[in-house]
Formats: sequence, structure tokens, C-alpha cells
Amino acid sequence: IVQGKSVVKKFGDFVALDHVDIDIENGEVVCIVGPSGSGKSTLLRCINQLEKIDGGGLWVDGELVGYRIAGSALHELDDKQIARQRLATGMVFQRFNLFPHMTALENIIEGPIQVLKRSPQECREQALELLERVGLSDKANAYPVELSGGQQQRVAIARALAMRPRLMLFDEPTSALDPELVGEVLQVMRDLARSGMSMIVVTHELGFAREVANRVVFMDAGQIVETGAPEEILMYPRNERTRGFISAVL
Ligand code: ATP
Ligand code: MG
Repeated sequence: IVQGKSVVKKFGDFVALDHVDIDIENGEVVCIVGPSGSGKSTLLRCINQLEKIDGGGLWVDGELVGYRIAGSALHELDDKQIARQRLATGMVFQRFNLFPHMTALENIIEGPIQVLKRSPQECREQALELLERVGLSDKANAYPVELSGGQQQRVAIARALAMRPRLMLFDEPTSALDPELVGEVLQVMRDLARSGMSMIVVTHELGFAREVANRVVFMDAGQIVETGAPEEILMYPRNERTRGFISAVL
């Protein structure tokens, strides 16, 4: 579902992604771990085109991200085409950023109605199903201020799913939550993983990674240092930098 070949992303002279190669299969759940500033968010942001890459190539769902190949030339896609490509991914951030003036249900139906032009009736039915799936059937008409952080984050997940993405990206979805609310969000993510959704999850929740991920990727200084099965990376890391990080977090 995602292929990155020698992806480079710079901010000025600073190299945030340094020749990153990544290959994620359809249906795979990949957790990305690594120290602050290692490029985890930048990688997700490049995958869903919040950032543009400066070198290499990135493919999502078989499509070259941001460019079109014509003969031997590369043409940048226009905003409309980029917007279409971005529909393949759903993203959930650390901060839930729901629309504050809309109820949970309204937050969920906004995108499908406005962007996908689907019928309001169909979108409302789908939203109610999604609310049930994230355990919030009784909160359809609640406004974000009336919801706990964990509930807001679950609405944010439902809202992303309402766009029917092929791939879900999570950037530290539980790190802004009070500890007692982390579990309910991880449970929704666990169910989503079991349903076969392709997921990339940046997280410090190593327990979740061990249990749910098919693969763990360790990043440091803009590079993928080590990748493998959760038990390999988290229990028996080969690389010195991975070892240092894991022992600091546990
Ligand atoms: P954290 O765990 O703290 O979220 P991260 O691994 O997600 O860290 P990134 O946010 O990807 O790290 O940032 C990687 C590096 O790129 C950092 O050194 C950061 O300062 C730099 N960076 C990220 N975005 C920008 C930007 N818009 N302009 C300049 N530098 C940036
Ligand atoms: Mg980050």
C-alpha cells in the first residue's frame, strides 16, 4: 500500500528524511518508533502530502505521490489531483482537532457530504454505524467540549474512516490523553487493525506495538535504522541506537 524509495525531505539545509526506503503491504499494521525529531511525523506527512518530498519516490496505493509520469518527464500534479490522491489516506493526529461548533455526528458526515458528495441520508447512517464501532452510539449529538479526550479521539477516528480511506495514519494518537483514557483509543485501533485496515502508527505505546503491529520500524536522525517483527525490534534489537531507545522508553 506504501512504497518509498530513497525518500529525502529537507527543511532548508536540514535533512529530515535521509534516503528512507519503506515498503508496507496492503492490510499490514506498521508501528514507527524513535526519538523526538527522528522524522516520524515528517514521514507520515509526506505520505499524505502535507509535505512535499525533495528526492526519491513515494507510492501510495500504487500511485506515485504528487507527480505524473509522461514519457520520461515528471510533471507535478495540480491541487485538484493532489486532493484526490490524499483521499486514499486518513490521518489522526495527537490533538483531536474536531470542528468545535459541530456535534460528533456532524463532524463525521461533513467530509463525505462536502467532499465526496454523497447523500446526507447515507452519510448519516454510516456515521451512526461508525459511532457504534468506536463505542459512542450515545454521543452522536454531543459537541466536542462535552466529550472526554478519549471520546474526542474516537470521534476523530470515526471521522477519518467515514472517508473510506485505503490507509490510516496515526501520529501519536494517545500521547495527549490522560493515562486512563489511552486504553479506549488503543482498543478502537486494535479492532480496526483486526478488520484488515492498513495502518501506520507512530506511537510510544510499545505494548500496543508488540501486540498489534505486524512490523515495527525504528527511526533515528531521519533514517530507518532497523525494521522487523515486533519481538525482534522490541525485545532483541540488533542496532545500538534501537537498543538505547528501547531501554530508555521501557
Ligand atoms: P516527535 O517524536 O517529537 O514528534 P518526530 O520524529 O515526529 O518527533 P519530526 O516532526 O518528523 O520528528 O521532525 C523531524 C525533524 O524535522 C525535527 O528536527 C524537526 O525540527 C524538523 N522539522 C519538522 N518540520 C519542520 C518544519 N516545518 N520546518 C523546519 N523543520 C522542521
Ligand atoms: Mg512527531
